Amino acid sequence: MDIFQTEPGLGLTPTQQRAFVQYANLLQTWNQKFNLTAIRDPDEIWHKHFLDSLTCLRAMRGTPLQRVIDVGTGAGFPGLVLKIACPEIHLTLVEAVAKKAAFCAEVVHTLGLDHVEIQTARAEALAQAPAHREQYDWAVARAVAPLSVLAEYLLPFVKVGGKMLAQKGQESAQEVKQAENALSTLGGELEQVLPVPLPGGEAHTLIVIAKVRPTPDRFPRRVGIPAKRPL
Ligand code: SAM
Repeated sequence: MDIFQTEPGLGLTPTQQRAFVQYANLLQTWNQKFNLTAIRDPDEIWHKHFLDSLTCLRAMRGTPLQRVIDVGTGAGFPGLVLKIACPEIHLTLVEAVAKKAAFCAEVVHTLGLDHVEIQTARAEALAQAPAHREQYDWAVARAVAPLSVLAEYLLPFVKVGGKMLAQKGQESAQEVKQAENALSTLGGELEQVLPVPLPGGEAHTLIVIAKVRPTPDRFPRRVGIPAKRPL
């Protein structure tokens, strides 16, 4: 549990720490039956899933967190981890693969988390639904698509004044450059590229985009088109 000491200002309660233990146990159990995530080693679950997801708070803390959506959440990363750390969040998880969404539902049930909505859906379709379009303070994603594609998945969910966050690997300058057109088309503006040093000498990057204008109605385009023909 000491690893959480490396994440500044976290101060998890015993209840939150227990929740992470239960989450790790469920992940290991389900991974024996289904291929949920390639990361199976207990130590790696803590570092590469939990701690890595928690680094999002470096960009999010101190901003409104009432409604957060995690697109392409897989086994709940980073969304469910953020929910455990910040119980006040009303969280929506979006995941195209039903088996992974079912795992997230199991975690929510077992940990007794409230205000979590799970959508087995494609982001391109869900973002056109009025209950979700431009409703969120933050849209977040890890390991889902290049930034130019991700912006089309995420920005339509974000209200003007809100933000999107992309968790990326070390090298992101090129990706940011390639996303310039997508960002301006979708109503986004690059706010911050935040390097995050990880234990073991690795570094990741948080890319924060501010939503400065409404996204035109025609975005996102039909399912599959953003990835096939990035803006
Ligand atoms: N975010 C998780 C993580 O970091 O562990 C999962 C990453 S996994 C590599 C990408 C996930 O995004 C997959 O589970 C995939 O089904 C989902 N995904 C990809 N494109 C999507 C879309 N357009 N709408 C919803 N889910 C999507």
